[in-house]
Amino acid sequence: MNQPPVTLAILLPLPLTEVYDYLPENNSAPKGAIVEVPIGKKVSVGVVWGPGKGGVAETKLKPILRVLDLPPLPKASRAFIDWAAQYTVTPPGSVLKMAFGSPRLLHLKKNDAIPTQALNPDHHVPELTPEQKKAADALVERVSPAFSVTLLDGVTGSGKTEVYCEAIAECLRQGKQALVLLPEIAMTAALMDRLTARFGIEPVQWHSELSEKQRRLNWHAIAHGKAKFILGARSALFLPYPDLGLIVVDEEHEAAYKQEEGVIYHGRDMAVARGHIGGIPVILSSATPSLETLFNVQQGKYGHVTLRHRYGKASLPKIDLVDLRQFKLPAQNFISPPLLDALTQTIADKHQAMLFLNRRGYAPLTLCRACGNRLNCPNCTSWLTEHKQTGRLQCHHCNYTMRLPDKCPKCGAEDRFAACGPGVERIAEEVKRVLPDARFAIMASDTLPGPKAAQEMVDQMANRELDLLIGTQIMAKGYHFPRLTLVGVVDADLGLAGGDPRAAERTFQLLQQVAGRSGRGDDPGGVILQTTAPDHPVMKALVKGDRDAFMAAEMHERAAYNLPPVSRLASVTVSGANVKQVIDLANELAAVAPQTEKIRILGPAPAPFAMLRGRYRHRLLLQASRNVNVSQVLRQWVGAVKAPRNMRILIDVDPYSFL
Ligand code: ADP
Ligand code: ZN
Repeated sequence: MNQPPVTLAILLPLPLTEVYDYLPENNSAPKGAIVEVPIGKKVSVGVVWGPGKGGVAETKLKPILRVLDLPPLPKASRAFIDWAAQYTVTPPGSVLKMAFGSPRLLHLKKNDAIPTQALNPDHHVPELTPEQKKAADALVERVSPAFSVTLLDGVTGSGKTEVYCEAIAECLRQGKQALVLLPEIAMTAALMDRLTARFGIEPVQWHSELSEKQRRLNWHAIAHGKAKFILGARSALFLPYPDLGLIVVDEEHEAAYKQEEGVIYHGRDMAVARGHIGGIPVILSSATPSLETLFNVQQGKYGHVTLRHRYGKASLPKIDLVDLRQFKLPAQNFISPPLLDALTQTIADKHQAMLFLNRRGYAPLTLCRACGNRLNCPNCTSWLTEHKQTGRLQCHHCNYTMRLPDKCPKCGAEDRFAACGPGVERIAEEVKRVLPDARFAIMASDTLPGPKAAQEMVDQMANRELDLLIGTQIMAKGYHFPRLTLVGVVDADLGLAGGDPRAAERTFQLLQQVAGRSGRGDDPGGVILQTTAPDHPVMKALVKGDRDAFMAAEMHERAAYNLPPVSRLASVTVSGANVKQVIDLANELAAVAPQTEKIRILGPAPAPFAMLRGRYRHRLLLQASRNVNVSQVLRQWVGAVKAPRNMRILIDVDPYSFL
């Protein structure tokens, strides 16, 4: 009798739900081994995931071509890939792809030299204040091979970076790898400099702006354990660290940690999961922690280390409101007299100022004054934003652009377009008018196309070549400008509208972070928030500096509406080019939706962006008690419906975007 052949299950870095069986080379390859296998007419890399499932006809089985000379994927990495795939309801192969960075990277080129880091944990140890020392000691104590999560909760400018560096130093002393995550690439340059000064050598980076060669070298350095100190974007979590000893999530409250495409996941939550699976301490750092994290602190799941004072002579800035309803600003003006006075004074004092408006471009809406027609994106439920720098109208969702037309496409009227509302470019135009001598620059993601450009602007600020920065949220975070003593927020109400359950929390966090750029040096700082809602709880809390009361009220509110973090949410979005098909499929999903005491289904309803990139979108929201395994429910529910090929069902567990 013939024994069935011994096979191995191979996970391929492709969006496949299943592992495939292959015949092993020389009859064995260890779990985690990185191999090459034939797939169709091609050759793909893959990872030995376990024993084969069997049931494949012997004649159909193909052999593993070779085992690559690379460290096998560690057990914790494999467990994490399985867990993340399960949690996000994604094929594990899609998660594996992130562990490889890109499968092509795996092959070293002839002259590639893998960098090895010789870090000195005690290279430049700052003298910590007693408060900082206490916080650092508490963090260092937790640096051991055991899972823990600690919130490092310190006001802006309190020295959180210096404090968590002590935990990194301890991790390095223990000979392990330390990973620091940042929410946005634009912030890496500034932090790189500080970390390099502290440890005497640059951290190894991992993010999408590296050259392919640099990525390849860094991947190998990490996978071989030669990189000890890694600074990266959220995707760095999935790399195969042989010996990870600490994860720091800087600015943990940032919504930018949420990946909205491909594998949809939250970098902070995944960091905690990675820590749990690997038995690793995790530090979450923020001046404005998320309600999710504060909830976990309250529940006793996370430790809590606080810094209440700014470092050195700096004090927290004074925050004032300007009630815009009291000023009849002319149509082209967005800077109120009190804000203009403050700007003038600040620049006269040879200090620096910042004007914050979270909107790129010149104007968010262009309207025909003859017929009222609004210039919309043809592919999205969205207005086109005028960009003067490029002379074009642009959709911020699909990047469709067009020249500003001469005539209204609807009524044919010539030269009757009006720009409505401000973007940062329009504020710059106003600054030129009202502060003609001010040296200013615009800081937005489209005017600063990368970490280098951001760093240049930071240097210009440091060298006092600029009086004023005008920018979007990318300048709200992490920057330290000691001469900056005034922050003006052009439209503090901007984030409050819309159906996002976190709108108030996010607005509070963003404004608090922006405000935190002011007065970080020796001179006291001020903040002016222009608002039409001075009585809104967000504005009141900012003025009073009472974060805890605000967050407590917010938690109350969430509980009252059964929203996260008190409950769990997931969204299921159906999209396609044909609106009727989309509605039908959404209704079909609704018809088979789970119905239990602990689960509620809202919708289907058109998403606020009912059309995006040419596809219609209808959405269902699943609201569940915290103890429901939402991923499992979703897999069963959505798995019961078959989407036609031209349609998509997008599952978002713990959604942060409600558009
Ligand atoms: P946070 O991240 O809490 O906003 P930072 O870590 O950026 O604060 O610290 C604010 C500034 O104070 C930085 O320029 C930092 O280098 C400096 N600083 C903080 N603590 C110390 C210290 N103990 N010794 C020297 N400089 C410090
Ligand atoms: Zn569009």
